[in-house]
Amino acid sequence: MKVVIIGAGIAGLTLALYLEKYDIEVVINERVAGTPGGGHAFLMHHDGLCILEELATGESSSLPGKLVEKFCLLRPEGEVLQQLQLEAWHCMKRSELTTFLYSLLKNGVQEQRVFSHFVYERGKAVAAVFENGDREEGDIFIGADGGYSRVRTEVLGPVDFKAGRVKEVVGISRQADIALKYAGIFNKFQKSYRGLAFGMIPTSEEELVWFIQYDPSVAEPTDSKPETLKAFCADLLHDFPQEVQQVLQGNDFEKTYLWNTRDFDLLPKFHHQNVIVIGDAAHLALPFTSAGTTNALVDAKTLAELLRSGQPYEQVFDEFYKQRAASVAKHLEFGRKLRDVFLDPVTYAGQAATIPLI
Ligand SMILES: Cc1cc2nc3c(=O)[nH]c(=O)nc-3n(C[C@H](O)[C@H](O)[C@H](O)COP(=O)(O)OP(=O)(O)OC[C@H]3O[C@@H](n4cnc5c(N)ncnc54)[C@H](O)[C@@H]3O)c2cc1C
Repeated sequence: MKVVIIGAGIAGLTLALYLEKYDIEVVINERVAGTPGGGHAFLMHHDGLCILEELATGESSSLPGKLVEKFCLLRPEGEVLQQLQLEAWHCMKRSELTTFLYSLLKNGVQEQRVFSHFVYERGKAVAAVFENGDREEGDIFIGADGGYSRVRTEVLGPVDFKAGRVKEVVGISRQADIALKYAGIFNKFQKSYRGLAFGMIPTSEEELVWFIQYDPSVAEPTDSKPETLKAFCADLLHDFPQEVQQVLQGNDFEKTYLWNTRDFDLLPKFHHQNVIVIGDAAHLALPFTSAGTTNALVDAKTLAELLRSGQPYEQVFDEFYKQRAASVAKHLEFGRKLRDVFLDPVTYAGQAATIPLI
């Protein structure tokens, strides 16, 4: 059996590593050249970290990320709403995670291959074709090509993206004193009367990842140029604490992104014939639950275990849906609920302190 994976992100790389471990022939294809260094950072649940630990067993690479031990929800004026000891969460930069996964891969990644379409014989895909004209034949094809998956569109049709009604600005700031002071602590400041929040988590002794979640129906930057974003953030957070201002001052706005959040309803299936989608390609939730990366890792491990069982692929893919659909649907709904609470904190006053983690 030869497995062809499209997309060397978190889900694709993890699946490729498991398949290599189980001596299943695998070729992983990625549109970008070089270790994908893009992105900022995310929270990862213990379930995800256990998978990384398992992959690293017997290898010299050390695990990426830092333990997040405490979550503090505060008002910008200083009132502490909630303090919670966490046991199961890590924060890691996306580039650290992809570099770690690449370092474990034995056969490397076929780069600069932008998936274009499949070639079919008797209804089954027999080869993936890339925009540069390359072609990869295989028995099973896995779309791990992210939320805007071309593989998904080709085999399952277009999805109805729902606008998240919340936007995020995300950046990395170098402020060693604040990073040291809050090592292991996720601080989130939330306005009491409108959808506006600022969160920060140290990713090392020198750096913090920070984000602003805001309601674009109230305020919106005119464009996403660095100087526009800088002025927009300063204006949004003008009455937030001094340390928040310092984090903004230590930030590189050239590498600061504006994200439109969106999701789509649970798909009725994740596969068609011998093609299946995993990770964000299969299910996309709003970022409030912090579940996306952990779910990508769990998908990869679950599918690898099922492929290893040697059952026919139809059974493997049905079983994969049975094992994963209910859990990702729960995160999808939880993300939407947290979004509603976030946008209307006055109506949901009693629930405003819901912990935004799965
Ligand atoms: C550059 C980048 C930066 C990100 N930064 C953050 C962040 O800071 N915080 C956060 O929470 N989440 C971030 N994410 C999303 C996060 O990685 C995913 O939500 C989550 O980890 C699920 O992983 P995934 O493997 O399903 O998807 P992804 O990690 O999105 O991986 C999809 C992969 O498929 C590749 N790909 C896409 N289309 C094609 C194609 N047509 N042909 C070949 N390859 C293709 C992409 O280049 C990418 O490597 C980022 C994703 C990317 C791609």
